[in-house]
Amino acid sequence: MRISLRPLGEVPREVLEDLAEDLRDLGTATVLEPLPLGPESRDDGRGQHRAEPLLDALATGAGDRILGVTAVDLYTGMYRFIFGLARIQGTPAVISICRLGTSDPARFRDRVAKEAIHEIGHTLGADNCPNRGCVMSFSDSADAVDRKTRSFCGRCAPTIEFTLKRLRT
Ligand SMILES: [Zn+2]
Ligand SMILES: [Zn+2]
Repeated sequence: MRISLRPLGEVPREVLEDLAEDLRDLGTATVLEPLPLGPESRDDGRGQHRAEPLLDALATGAGDRILGVTAVDLYTGMYRFIFGLARIQGTPAVISICRLGTSDPARFRDRVAKEAIHEIGHTLGADNCPNRGCVMSFSDSADAVDRKTRSFCGRCAPTIEFTLKRLRT
């Protein structure tokens, strides 16, 4: 599978390059030119961006899947904030690194990789998973991200493998 990483606004180059490497098991990731963050998604009252308009902006472009990466804080619907959002079995997904920061660079990189794999997992047809260790487990805090692994559990892996196989043929 070909994955395009699209920075939305300013994102450190190193974060994108590390992430491209960390997505190796899913496919070949390429870093695209950044897209500026426009007023369509901005919510001045909350100081956040709405995730849906970002998915719309990401939907066109090269790659089997397009993952937007942003440093701004995201929300959707009733959620106070979200780490990411994706179209189930669709092309686009987005993650925010805004709340993943920590003084430990290795831990930060790991969190970014987990949330990216989680959102790409949704685009490959997997739902949120009740298994806490599974990468598809829903995280509402950085601690919850730390508690899960980067792997798909036995319940989620067949869905992922089935879709990846279909993309290869
Ligand atoms: Zn999810
Ligand atoms: Zn699972």
